[in-house]
Amino acid sequence: MQNKTSVYLDYAASTPLDEQVLGVITTHLERVFGNPSSVHRFGQKAEDAVSNARQVIADILNCLPEEIIFTGCGSESDNLALRGAALAAQKERNARHILISPVEHHAVSHTAQQLAELHNFELEYLPVDEYGMVQPAEVESRLRDDTALVSVIYANNEIGTINPIGEIGAVCRASGIPFHSDAVQAGAYLGLDVQELQVDLLALGAHKFYGPKGVGVLYVRGGTPLISTLTGGGQESGLRAGTHNVPYIAGMAEALKIAQAGRSEQAAHAAALCDQMIAYILSVIPDSRLTGHPIQRLPNHASFTFKGVDGNALLMLLDTAGFACSSSSACKTGSPEPSEVLTALGLNRDWALGSLRVTIGKYSNQKDIELFLDTLPGLVERLRWLNA
Ligand SMILES: *Cc1c(COP(=O)(O)O)cnc(C)c1O
Repeated sequence: MQNKTSVYLDYAASTPLDEQVLGVITTHLERVFGNPSSVHRFGQKAEDAVSNARQVIADILNCLPEEIIFTGCGSESDNLALRGAALAAQKERNARHILISPVEHHAVSHTAQQLAELHNFELEYLPVDEYGMVQPAEVESRLRDDTALVSVIYANNEIGTINPIGEIGAVCRASGIPFHSDAVQAGAYLGLDVQELQVDLLALGAHKFYGPKGVGVLYVRGGTPLISTLTGGGQESGLRAGTHNVPYIAGMAEALKIAQAGRSEQAAHAAALCDQMIAYILSVIPDSRLTGHPIQRLPNHASFTFKGVDGNALLMLLDTAGFACSSSSACKTGSPEPSEVLTALGLNRDWALGSLRVTIGKYSNQKDIELFLDTLPGLVERLRWLNA
């Protein structure tokens, strides 16, 4: 028998495509097939589409169009930022120290770990508080002359905490150390003005703000030393070779424009539903905790741990009941180990294995949340009873 309930509560893993964005992509797929690097009119038409998109995104980020690099995804943007800046700093000033938070997405942390293993960098982790937040003073006290770069996530994908990026950026700038922020979760809800954020590098991925999967942006402040990690043609100022994905680049610009224009309205919509959900769950389910910051968090993000509950089993029961959630980062489901992010908050195994992430978006409504809240407490109770 088919289950009629089908509620998507995993917007941090990916968002549905906005219909208007789909229209832009389709139009470009049908009509703009030329290679933007070609001289003829077919190429020029494609090049116009790419440079229009670049201008739209530069206006939103308050930067120059030349500072926008199109990439294949958010992960690639993080990879280019970390590897490109670290290798350039090593070559130019013999830098060998990398400073990152312990709550980075794997696109950042695994890249930093590889730089330490293969290129002789010393990787240092910043401390975070119980909410997973990085304090600017902790960054300041760890900066060294040979620090190649600092990377701190803007808004955390697992626990929703928003970091004080502008203040951390000011600290790094005062010492002349390049500062990267993974802003992939921030695209739909937070300000992206790179002058206010005082970042030198900033990563975005379109499918987290109702755009297509497989396309991203890296902002690179003019003058930031960066070595290309994808060599070939001279696209993207020589920083990222490969023929542009014209339809997706145009779609991403449209998606970011829509998301940022509706940002406060969407934040209010999401926060009302999330606040209701958080208050209900914490009051009704015994031994439950909110993970991440209670206030400085993404408005669409509610993350919990339930003591003594198998988070993956809970996800499966929820899926059977028609609710799509996540236990932590989507890239990690199936892994029986507690998440590094939750461990960094100081949660022990008994709590950390019982995580649940509920992330909503512009297509979520009151009825979805009510259905979910009617279902969740019983499932948690059942798992605890089976475990006892
Ligand atoms: C999704 C995500 C990424 C990876 O982006 P992709 O476009 O899926 O490669 C990186 N960082 C964070 C914080 C994310 O949420």
